[in-house]
Amino acid sequence: MDRQQEFVLRTIEERDIRFVRLWFTDVLGTLKSVAVAPAELEGAFAEGIGFDGSAIEGFARVYEADMLAKPDPGTFQVLPWRGENPGTARMFCNLTLPDGSPSFADSRHVLQRALSKAADLGFTFYTHPEIEFFLFERPVKKGEPPVPVDQGGYFDHVPHGTAHDFRRAAITMLENMGISVEFSHHEMGPGQNEIDLRYADALSTADNIMTFRTVIKEVALEQDIYASFMPKPLTDQPGSGMHTHLSLFEGDRNAFYEAGAPYQLSKVGRQFIAGLLRHGAEITAVTNQWVNSYKRLWGGGEAPAYICWGHNNRSALIRVPMYKPSKGQSTRIEVRSLDSACNPYLAFAVLLTAGLKGIEEGYDLPDEAEDDVWTLTDAERRAMGIQPLPTSLHSAIALMERSDLVAEALGEHVFDFFLRNKRAEWDDYRNQVTPFELERYLPRL
Ligand code: GLU
Ligand code: MG
Ligand code: MG
Repeated sequence: MDRQQEFVLRTIEERDIRFVRLWFTDVLGTLKSVAVAPAELEGAFAEGIGFDGSAIEGFARVYEADMLAKPDPGTFQVLPWRGENPGTARMFCNLTLPDGSPSFADSRHVLQRALSKAADLGFTFYTHPEIEFFLFERPVKKGEPPVPVDQGGYFDHVPHGTAHDFRRAAITMLENMGISVEFSHHEMGPGQNEIDLRYADALSTADNIMTFRTVIKEVALEQDIYASFMPKPLTDQPGSGMHTHLSLFEGDRNAFYEAGAPYQLSKVGRQFIAGLLRHGAEITAVTNQWVNSYKRLWGGGEAPAYICWGHNNRSALIRVPMYKPSKGQSTRIEVRSLDSACNPYLAFAVLLTAGLKGIEEGYDLPDEAEDDVWTLTDAERRAMGIQPLPTSLHSAIALMERSDLVAEALGEHVFDFFLRNKRAEWDDYRNQVTPFELERYLPRL
């Protein structure tokens, strides 16, 4: 047993932890949990805990259902909302097949594989998400638009407002779980909030995002409200994005930084952006995986819809944030397409793979877009070489299907499962006669 594992077992004894939840994430980004008694942990560290993979959406086909969940002791945390005496803790797991090899269905492994490819090239990958979500009154009535808890707007201070208390409680709980929060504020929409996590290596960030969603939902329930990460819950309001800042480091050095270059952006940084742009359309099904995601992308509200980059251009897919002269190490790029309901492991894996492709192939970075690209005409955008992002899940799937890059990043099993699942989602959606159609057509036709 290694020292981290020993630390976990000692803490469990000292703090009287009676339940340990083993967490992992399915292909669609849903958190899964198996509780084990502390006595099982030594075995779990050594061999994993067996479970039936076919019971879980997105996992094994029936004939290869046996899987093992192996807890990662570095992710051990006590769950503050479960209270002490007896306490409950959790660890994220790596999933393996019975022979001990990594499971082809494990999202976390998909990201680990992409990260080890980056490591082969000498890079570590850091991410920092800005997570937006809505707070609604409970109960949320089925089929009716949800009711936001306040009428606040961007950076509004709502005195004694629900959102204010909510953010304080949520941030305290996140910090108790070792997740550092950098900023938090009310967002543009009523009841909409944003909490930005401090940057960390991409695997920790993805784990933190999964924890974040759980914490936000738990704190909301405690306050008798409902938190939602749905990309676009309200027709006339902005959606919830998860803008993510990315950087590559070579040892202690920020590989995107070059003193004196335009925007202090190194060749590696420019090529990384070029990779994200060239492969931007084909990876969108992963970064924006729901039918509803495209209502956000094409619904205005500062969501990006066109593939271009800019310095401080909030209509662009990729933004190079303001450079602070004292902070060469903080050079980074912000990708604005992701929404808060993506699978963060898969999304980070496809972004990293696209960026690295730009470096490996030495892609040239196109000119930046200085204008608000929404206000240009199609002809102007075409003349500037600016393509749209996919306009629906249907077109995003069609682009992903033909993508060698996404197939490589996800691996064959996850790639196939994801596409099958998303085609089925699209078919379900396409068959619906919506309230929009009834309202528009029934009186006239
Ligand atoms: N809510 C916007 C989006 O969907 C982003 C607003 C902002 O710039 O923070 O991407
Ligand atoms: Mg925001
Ligand atoms: Mg942003």
